[in-house]
Amino acid sequence: MSATAQTPIIPIKSSSEPPHVIAPDANTIFATRAQRFEQLAEGHALGDWLRFLAAITRAQHEALHALPVLALPDTAQLARAREHRMPPLPAQSWPRDPAWRDSLRQIIARIADVAPEPARQDLARLAGLAPERTEALAERVLHTELYGDDAALLPYVAAALQVLWTTAAARLGIGDVAALDVPGVCPCCGFLPVASVVRNSGEASNLRYLHCALCNTEWNLVRVKCSACDANEGISYRHLESDENKTAGAVRAETCESCKSYLKIVYSEKGPVDPVADDLATLALDILVDEAGYARSGPNLLLVPGG
Ligand SMILES: [Zn+2]
Ligand SMILES: [Zn+2]
Repeated sequence: MSATAQTPIIPIKSSSEPPHVIAPDANTIFATRAQRFEQLAEGHALGDWLRFLAAITRAQHEALHALPVLALPDTAQLARAREHRMPPLPAQSWPRDPAWRDSLRQIIARIADVAPEPARQDLARLAGLAPERTEALAERVLHTELYGDDAALLPYVAAALQVLWTTAAARLGIGDVAALDVPGVCPCCGFLPVASVVRNSGEASNLRYLHCALCNTEWNLVRVKCSACDANEGISYRHLESDENKTAGAVRAETCESCKSYLKIVYSEKGPVDPVADDLATLALDILVDEAGYARSGPNLLLVPGG
């Protein structure tokens, strides 16, 4: 009897097999994003705003490390989610820990001093809201109702919710997250993607990953395919003739003739990129494709539409 006969066989994943889902790294995601915002702010027409977003993102990093240990779905709940091909941390129904409102308070406290004037008033108002009003704003974010009264408060609420969902998604890891039947929504939380990203290093090199606007999970989708309606014909790409600044990565809008929607793809050709930051540094591209008749299929939660 050889020793190997008693050794459990551990399936070894081929290194050539790319991961379908990539969980966020809670330790680095917001710090890296803040650096990217600062880099993109250099010489940018919207530099002051991008620097404010860097401050918000740094505050997210700090708030994440102050969160208590979150209750995650138990084994039975995870098994049920897998069986029904449902996301384990659904944005619209996961019982969110009220600790997210502590994150919100911390974020507000950290950015109040650097906020531009109208934002400063918004932050003061948000800080004074009763918990049930704040929770009602959270419901609007989680149902992507990002318009109407108090829309200017929603990015800060969203920033705190991103901290909660990102922490939970990172702790869950990818072992409990299975592919869904609907490729255009996040397999971890069911929320919409903010953009997709194509990196040029690591095992996922040159593959396209959609990036969740809420929990920062990434999931693979083949290239040249509309993430909103699955069409793989009538897809085309638009980009800005002149990059607004030299540090911008290549960003293209993938437009779909079938559903008349678009979402951006960020390519890390010239160095590190961040789907959230690079998206907001290229708003001119949104204006271009919007004028051409396409509607954006996933939100960037740090942006008030039309605001
Ligand atoms: Zn997600
Ligand atoms: Zn489409």
